[in-house]
Amino acid sequence: MKTSFYQHSLAELELLFRERGLPPSGPGLLFNWHYKKRKSEPCLQNLAKDSINFVSEFLNFNLPEIEVTQCSDDKTVKFLFRLEDGQKIESVLIPFNGKYTICLSSQVGCAMKCSFCHTGLQGLSRNLRTDEIIGQFLVAQKWLTANRPEDDKILNIVFMGQGEPLHNFDAVKMACEIFLSQHGLSIADQKITISTAGYLPGLERWKEEMPKVNIALSLHSPLKEKRDQLIPINKKYPLEEVIKYVDSIPEGKNRFVTYEYLLIDNFNDTDEDAHLTGKLLEGKKAYISLIPFNPFPGSPYQRPQLSKVEHFKSILDQYKIPTLIRATKGDQILAACGQLNSKTASKPLQSPS
Ligand code: SAH
Repeated sequence: MKTSFYQHSLAELELLFRERGLPPSGPGLLFNWHYKKRKSEPCLQNLAKDSINFVSEFLNFNLPEIEVTQCSDDKTVKFLFRLEDGQKIESVLIPFNGKYTICLSSQVGCAMKCSFCHTGLQGLSRNLRTDEIIGQFLVAQKWLTANRPEDDKILNIVFMGQGEPLHNFDAVKMACEIFLSQHGLSIADQKITISTAGYLPGLERWKEEMPKVNIALSLHSPLKEKRDQLIPINKKYPLEEVIKYVDSIPEGKNRFVTYEYLLIDNFNDTDEDAHLTGKLLEGKKAYISLIPFNPFPGSPYQRPQLSKVEHFKSILDQYKIPTLIRATKGDQILAACGQLNSKTASKPLQSPS
């Protein structure tokens, strides 16, 4: 059976070549062709004949297919991808100063069942493989180069699409290795962020195994009762334990933690919520990202007025924690945080802006 080329690190390919007595230059040439030159058709130049035979027999170069592309006026682009088995996932390109952040999915659906999240309502269908994660990036990059050649650079990667990335650790870790590798996609250190609902077993591995990747923790409430209601895995992995773990990252490492705080009208946006959050995070090497709730069809919560969000921020400012209100981009096409749901993915197709 063939495996995807995009599933393998350079070291793995080198081993496969060595085991078969093939010329050792092959894996480097393949990486250069597919990741540096961004070619998607198989590399049949420069490889020795035996290597070409091996590649044709054992590797495929399939990538997810774009089923729908939606562009919003703010230049956000949402892709609905179709995978080999017909499953669908979404990824979003978010513009920022002429460059892009790409928001990737790590699973088809999600098992976390957060009550405010459109993806959570869909349940988990399956994990994505490494090549399906890398594939979202490569296909989106190709689309950008074809449609917006004047500003086609993807600078940051965030795992904030569908799924809980730490719940699909091995595939996400290998994808990050290929993203970061200078032989792969050469994404700079600390330009990848994994957002987690607080899945502790994954956080424990992240701390040891992914030193060049940042974490964003979905905090959403410092109060157990409210957080339990929003993020059910809080009952199994309570916030105190998760924060204790995050705090235990050795000093001096360049990693930082972003705490994401979803603001829901009349639920977790009171002065008391803000003060308790400030006290919880005071003195930590942390950033807070305030995310006003993004509604979706049938969602049980409302978004607060901007003035309330700003007031919440002003309280956090008293605790001297750098806090940003996350601009809501792409909500016109349901591409904002928590709005992704590939089962109800909408059809409208607008021409690229
Ligand atoms: N499973 C990961 C990543 C998924 S989503 C996690 O839980 O962190 C990335 C961010 O979007 C998370 O902070 C998530 O809580 C937030 N989010 C989910 N649904 C949202 C919604 N409807 N409005 C605003 N933010 C939402």
